[in-house]
Amino acid sequence: MIRAQEDSREVPETEHPSAKFFDTHTHLTDPRFDADREAVLERAAAAGVSRLVEIADAPEDWPRVLAFARARPQVARCALGLHPYYADACTDGLLALLERQARLPEVVAVGEIGLDYARGPVAPQVQITALQRLLASCRDWGKPAVIHCREAYADLRSVVQEVFPSPPEGRRFWGVVHCFSGSPDDAEFFTRRGFALGADGPVTYPKNADLREAFRRAGPTATVLETDSPYLPPQSRRGQRNDPSLIPEIAQALAGVWEIGLKETARVTTANALELFETRIP
Ligand SMILES: [Zn+2]
Ligand SMILES: [Zn+2]
Repeated sequence: MIRAQEDSREVPETEHPSAKFFDTHTHLTDPRFDADREAVLERAAAAGVSRLVEIADAPEDWPRVLAFARARPQVARCALGLHPYYADACTDGLLALLERQARLPEVVAVGEIGLDYARGPVAPQVQITALQRLLASCRDWGKPAVIHCREAYADLRSVVQEVFPSPPEGRRFWGVVHCFSGSPDDAEFFTRRGFALGADGPVTYPKNADLREAFRRAGPTATVLETDSPYLPPQSRRGQRNDPSLIPEIAQALAGVWEIGLKETARVTTANALELFETRIP
């Protein structure tokens, strides 16, 4: 505690720190960035956000997302997945294709994959079966999973318990529960089993005290930062397009929760992200 207080004293909280942030979940290939994609990346760099992982939701997005990462080796890697909206497309053929693509050097994770009972058009049992197969594949291929979960935390806990009954050996994380929106109890469940939690804009919303409590329990060593751009803007941009330059606002909210400085928040969450994806980005 004494050390944490010292850290918060030495960091000027209004400036972005020299430590670099990692945005672990972006959709910058979204058409909403077609007009100004390079300017968005420049703004991110100016805000200290020097690394990101671009996420693909469906096989038709995989080539575009791969090309995005390939064109920016100093900044970006990518993850290829099958969003629960498309879980009924999880065939043997798709898994074989995913296994081949997951070996490419730019591809640092499988995702996003998961369960979405809020808006998903696919029946829960079909989503569960697809997720079981995809997570078992992640385990067999040694690839981290980027898991999406909305209004399905009880079922996600069952599937994770079944596929990953114990924490990983030789690495820290099996994957990340991205845009974590579960309870403080869920936070403990996943972090104990070797999952990182992704913190997004909603952690900055005044009414989300329970979510901040979940991240307080998860602690800095199990948390990674993400924007999910263009979705989920933090409080200062509610209702607008999100972009990676807003990562420091999310970090600032967490620094307050953990009672550490912004610089330390950047350092720890970036170290977590590099371990999660087992990658080096210059
Ligand atoms: Zn998602
Ligand atoms: Zn996403």
